[in-house]
Amino acid sequence: MRKGKKEVFFTAELMHWNQHQNFREMPWKAEKDPYKIWLSEIILQQTRVEQGWNYYNAFIEAYPTILHLAAATDKEVYKLWEGLGYYSRCKNLLFTARYIATNYKGIFPSAYDAILQLKGVGPYTAAAIASFAFNIPKAVVDGNVMRVLSRYFGNKTAIDSTEGKKVFTAQAETLLDTSSPGKYNQAIMDFGATICKPKSPLCEQCPISARCTAYHENAVADYPVKEKKLLKKNRWLYYIIAEHDDAVTVRMRNQKDIWQNLYEFILIENSSRLTPDAFIASSSFKKIVGKQCRVIDISPEYKQLLTHQVIHGFFVHIKTKNAIVPEGYHIEKLKIIASLPFPKFINNYLQKTMLLKP
Ligand code: SF4
Repeated sequence: MRKGKKEVFFTAELMHWNQHQNFREMPWKAEKDPYKIWLSEIILQQTRVEQGWNYYNAFIEAYPTILHLAAATDKEVYKLWEGLGYYSRCKNLLFTARYIATNYKGIFPSAYDAILQLKGVGPYTAAAIASFAFNIPKAVVDGNVMRVLSRYFGNKTAIDSTEGKKVFTAQAETLLDTSSPGKYNQAIMDFGATICKPKSPLCEQCPISARCTAYHENAVADYPVKEKKLLKKNRWLYYIIAEHDDAVTVRMRNQKDIWQNLYEFILIENSSRLTPDAFIASSSFKKIVGKQCRVIDISPEYKQLLTHQVIHGFFVHIKTKNAIVPEGYHIEKLKIIASLPFPKFINNYLQKTMLLKP
């Protein structure tokens, strides 16, 4: 694609804005170490900067190099990741750290194609690492970049379609400042996050508004166009916290589902909403706990929104005469429960309950 006046204006103004008006701060900004860039990009894949900031610092402190991370245990790393969500990122992070330790002697690969081969690294993350760490001219393209381009060029190709990804990727490569690909990529990321935001973009302060099609057509809200509406699935998870002799029953989730490698209490998933009374009277509850239990506490309903699912449920804390250990579960002493990685849904409960308090 050739660079026309509109493209030249976009790149020049964006770079100028970046140099003089971009005050967005992030701990990994201007970082050249590919390990740290990779770590920050993996954290940011599904997380806002403000939330990811502390996690990034904690990871760098605990694991200053990729070899430190590769040598850590799964449990330690999952514990540090706890609360960030999208745990497949953590799984891939560990896999890739160990892969680089074994196959590249701990030295991060420096070619774009080799970076793209790493588990958990897609074209966006590979372009970010390649351009920031190695000055390779690859443009980052994600939902933020496509939103900016769709508005500026007045392009109604759906950004979640195959065609859209192709069109906007080609356009992004044309716009890239090949003499400073890292700076350009950082600029467009920051611009999408702070000026051309998803909601209420700051068009009055925008350095490229003079040539922005959506702005001139007074149609900013019409961009970007999306093909699919996200339908969320509701799930009802009911947890039994079976306490016996200062210990509780837990298991590590290893099925192909959300929250892999995190811990949970005895789970009964139901296909529809249940009241606590109906749950305690249900045959699934009775089958697990029998008659030998005392109900200590029933939590209010908890809810957590995930990208494709809405999780609802509550927790029933019981004390039993004998330990209850269904297949796949085991017993852990209460004093070590706080060191296990749990999903946010369960942690929200644990933080409010007396269970872990001495
Ligand atoms: S004028 Fe508004 S819509 Fe257009 S690029 Fe600037 S911030 Fe985005």
